[in-house]
Amino acid sequence: MATIIDGKKTALEIRNDLKEKIARLKIFPKLAVVLAGDDEASKIYVKNKQKAAFEVGIETILYTFDNVVTQGQLETLIDDLNNDADVNGILIHLPLPKHINAQKLLNKVCPLKDVDGFHPFNIGLLQNGDINATIAATPKGVLRLIKQTKIDLVGKNALVIGRSNIVGKPMSMLLLNENCTVTIAHSKTSDLRSLCQNADIVVSATGCPRLVKADWLKKGAVVIDVGICRDESGKLCGDVDFDKALEVASYITPVPGGVGPMTIAMLLENVVDAYLKQHQQ
Ligand code: NAD
Repeated sequence: MATIIDGKKTALEIRNDLKEKIARLKIFPKLAVVLAGDDEASKIYVKNKQKAAFEVGIETILYTFDNVVTQGQLETLIDDLNNDADVNGILIHLPLPKHINAQKLLNKVCPLKDVDGFHPFNIGLLQNGDINATIAATPKGVLRLIKQTKIDLVGKNALVIGRSNIVGKPMSMLLLNENCTVTIAHSKTSDLRSLCQNADIVVSATGCPRLVKADWLKKGAVVIDVGICRDESGKLCGDVDFDKALEVASYITPVPGGVGPMTIAMLLENVVDAYLKQHQQ
């Protein structure tokens, strides 16, 4: 039976460490959160992030806009936040209303305040393997969980399923930087099963419920499930057929309680790191 990787426990430890670090620094890093649109789920996500930030000693300021907000209004706000020395991090909640050019807005965020790691400058640093890169919270959290298993990553075959800019692509680059041999699969990949069978590490981020079957996995594979899905009965599940995969994998993350809590912890860590970079400590 696989060891279940407890992301909730690890995330709590990271948050406690951050709380102590912030208390020692005697500062309150400040995170600006931009929320545009009327999506109820987004409001809940943002509220949870604000609560988690508050608990470790990060101050948040929320800027809300309704659905008719213009690109210009949002860009003006980002300019103001970039110029405000008291603001250490800027988080633009995605998705934005459809008429907003999200990438153009993300590109305006000062790279030092880009706590999401979505700015092309930080993506470039990650590609170069530069330790100064701010790395997107979800893939950063996944790598932390993989490293916690203490497996030697060098030369391992890693399969990343999904090629989004926020999860799949940065994840594959992180694993490449760790000297894994990385394959990226996506919706047009023809034989996912055989790619899985060859993989020592599988990170799946598709949002397709239980896409990855247990009999696709190599015995002893490390399986990280980023997906957040609902099955046909409405039950929360991941991309991996967890119950059966438990019998094949060596380590596996559950959904919920795996990658999700790590994403928030890594965001908070990125805010503290942004503060330190801005103050050269
Ligand atoms: P996305 O929709 O932007 O990308 C999905 C990717 O999966 C695409 O690259 C697509 O090509 C690939 N894909 C879709 N169907 C596939 C198939 N049948 N076979 C192979 N590849 C397939 O989504 P995203 O933002 O990258 O998020 C992916 C999943 O991870 C979602 O379920 C999302 O909710 C979840 N997520 C979780 C966290 C977390 O903190 N746990 C964070 C971000 C995203």
